[in-house]
Amino acid sequence: MLFVLFSSTAQQKDAKMENFIKDLMGRMTLEEKIGQMNLPSEGDIITGLGTNNNIAGKIKKGLVGGMFNIKGAQKIKEIQKIAVEQSRMKIPLLFGMDVIHGYETVFPIPLGLACSWDMNLIEKSAEIAAKEASADGISWTFSPMVDIARDPRWGRVSEGSGEDPFLGGSIAKAMIKGYQGKDNTFREKFNILACVKHFALYGAGEAGRDYNTADMSHIRMFNEYFYPYKATVEQGVGSVMASFNVVDMVPAHANKWLLTDVLRNQWGFKGFTVADYGGVGEIINHGLGDLKTASAAALNAGLDMDMVSEGYINTLTESVKNGKVSEELINEACRRVLEAKYKLGLFADPYKFCDLKRAKSEIYTKENRDIARKTASESFVLLKNEGNVLPLNRNKTIAVIGPLASTKSNMVGTWSVAARLEKPLTLVEGLQEVGGKNTKILYAKGSNLIEDSKMQADATMFGRDIPRDDRSEEALIEEAVQTAMKADVIVAAMGEASEMSGESSSRTDIGIPAVQKRLLAKLAATGKPIVLVLFAGRPMTLVWEHENIPAILNVWFGGSEAAQAIGDVVFGDVNPSGKLVSTFPRSVAQIPLYYNHLNTGRPASDKGFEKFRSNYMDEKNAPLYPFGYGLSYTTFQYSEVKLSEAKMQQNSTITASVTVKNTGNREGSEVVQLYINDVQASISRPLKELKGFQKISLKPGESKVVEFAINAELLKFYNSELKFVCEPGEFQVMIGDSSDNVKKAGFTLN
Ligand code: BGC
Repeated sequence: MLFVLFSSTAQQKDAKMENFIKDLMGRMTLEEKIGQMNLPSEGDIITGLGTNNNIAGKIKKGLVGGMFNIKGAQKIKEIQKIAVEQSRMKIPLLFGMDVIHGYETVFPIPLGLACSWDMNLIEKSAEIAAKEASADGISWTFSPMVDIARDPRWGRVSEGSGEDPFLGGSIAKAMIKGYQGKDNTFREKFNILACVKHFALYGAGEAGRDYNTADMSHIRMFNEYFYPYKATVEQGVGSVMASFNVVDMVPAHANKWLLTDVLRNQWGFKGFTVADYGGVGEIINHGLGDLKTASAAALNAGLDMDMVSEGYINTLTESVKNGKVSEELINEACRRVLEAKYKLGLFADPYKFCDLKRAKSEIYTKENRDIARKTASESFVLLKNEGNVLPLNRNKTIAVIGPLASTKSNMVGTWSVAARLEKPLTLVEGLQEVGGKNTKILYAKGSNLIEDSKMQADATMFGRDIPRDDRSEEALIEEAVQTAMKADVIVAAMGEASEMSGESSSRTDIGIPAVQKRLLAKLAATGKPIVLVLFAGRPMTLVWEHENIPAILNVWFGGSEAAQAIGDVVFGDVNPSGKLVSTFPRSVAQIPLYYNHLNTGRPASDKGFEKFRSNYMDEKNAPLYPFGYGLSYTTFQYSEVKLSEAKMQQNSTITASVTVKNTGNREGSEVVQLYINDVQASISRPLKELKGFQKISLKPGESKVVEFAINAELLKFYNSELKFVCEPGEFQVMIGDSSDNVKKAGFTLN
């Protein structure tokens, strides 16, 4: 009964919206409708409300549907006023922003956030991002980014949730709940529109070079790369952004199969689609024609909103006249954009997100920052801890050394559009604050970030507040070694600067830059205990470090509270629990390397290299650190896997369980991972695929039984005919603490 009531109110609401928009569109000119499909960036509106590209003038004429990456409720209010008071139709604008991992309170970069495997915390981080952004005028975030990424050369691996579809889908759903609200009604004043991106295959660009060609079979698209997108559509994501690459040789922005047949017709997506920055214009470079042809192709493919290219407002009217596009498609696209505005409540109150009181009191609050600190500490992955160097004792002298030890802006990581870069503590400051008065901290820079000559790009572009030191490499090392000799333990703060990952930051060498590595070797040679605090926006190659440095804590870019969070973990107030969501290869030459691969007809042998097997003469097949891997200050023991039944029916559920025991002497959290292998099927299936996970907390000596429900739905995959099926036969269940450390059991599906 309750459901009937609910759904009938939902229907009434929809009918109300439909009538409202029908009436509105009935009064709009064709140009005004196309205007709703135009998304310029801030341009010159910030400085004097536009003269060059005259955005203010366009808003007045009704030629703008929204704008993006403008910060500040007051500024946004002024721009909204132009739309609402000076345009004929008075339609409010959408204000978008890349709120990717927090607003002013910055959370770890998405790759790090994913390593927490903590869906509640991830949802909470998105909710806080939405609260802060919405308090400052933003109604739309270009997040989550769900591109499966298996090539760490690609700088944008930092922006997604790693290599696994199942985990990526779960995380994306949690984020959409955090942004849009659990039921997508935008009921709370802070709910904003989410935008899943970049549809599709952006993470599969050849050779890890950004914006490069992607090409793969449809069966792989559906089973792996599309999975998280479909999950977000099921969750009710409000908008979808197209990707820069081609899909089946057609630019995604002009790909009807992708944007209409799959997204709308197969998956039932009801929101609107938006171009990526200049994506419509880039169709020209892809070789499909001029801006007019490109714009028509994009609209015909199902792309509703044009970001920055202004192809729609400049060419579509003519294309309607020439019969290149139908007015019907423009009506559809315009309607979808207006519906989003309606659902957000912008017609009811265009200034809903410009509440200056909220802007003053709800952004960068102590409460939000405390959660960011906790989240950051959960994102760190302890890669090695030989001889229990970590955690450190507070009553010691610690030499903090490295080019990343004394920077503030670097802590937040890439895509921190709204961050206050001067706010975060440096690592030196953070360790001092958390260590307290009994901890003595010494500091030396030790080296520059990179050697100029080693990168085509200028070192200063990575620097933010890491100015180059003009002293010689030897002089810097000398000072660092002297400093280290006065300390009980060395904390080496090294790795990538935040802008060495992210958009347009592909690298062929994904190791710690050589100049830093030489410093690290000199520090290791002092014989002092040493902890590498590794800053990274991607999986890195760390074979030398693994062999020579006793403790490695990967801290990614932890956000505005990163320094304190690192202190929490380094001093043992927080026990690390992060687990990798991307394979760390041993060398770049192994890429792409990911855990959920197929077998070959000639699998590598356990004994090392063998002729006529799928292996390398000069390198192992195995990664340095596998997917799902991460250490703790305590240890966990897993029992054998128990299955409730050895046989499963198509409509039944069986339970797989293990008992996990904390066998160390500290409380700790563990991510228990379930993998499944479809042993025999009509197509070759991955040797293992993540199908479940639970994060549990255990006191010393405590045990918990962890159960996973397995049903036929979980076993389904797309077959050669792209039908989503599960096939009877044998399955292997694997449960463990990482993808390469599992206990096994088997069952048969009838
Ligand atoms: C990126 C998108 C981003 C957009 C708007 C593009 O360059 O690929 O991820 O949302 O810019 O800033």
